[in-house]
Amino acid sequence: MKDQVVLKTKPSKIDVVGDAWVLHFPRFGEEGTHFHSYGLLTPYFKGLTEGRLMATCCQNTKCPISKGKGELWLPPRADCPDCHQPMKWQEIENPTGYIFTYTYVERGGTGLF
Ligand SMILES: [Zn+2]
Repeated sequence: MKDQVVLKTKPSKIDVVGDAWVLHFPRFGEEGTHFHSYGLLTPYFKGLTEGRLMATCCQNTKCPISKGKGELWLPPRADCPDCHQPMKWQEIENPTGYIFTYTYVERGGTGLF
């Protein structure tokens, strides 16, 4: 198994709009560029390009499920699915775990390699 992925395509251009990243995916020339925003999940994708793993947690003590105990969501959610309140971002320090499967996508997606 390879230790490092080598991209064979050019990374996408990224615009910063407020706190959100907007990626450019030129598909059919300049007029066919698709714009994709990471929106409120930008901290997750930005963290990955910086070697950081970001999760979210609900801080609402009146939340019917989490009750604000700080359980982490990974992949993150911008808003809590149980109480619909905005989630708080938290970096996972020294993350460890197992990778059971993965998909190799041969396309530059984030642009900061
Ligand atoms: Zn909640």
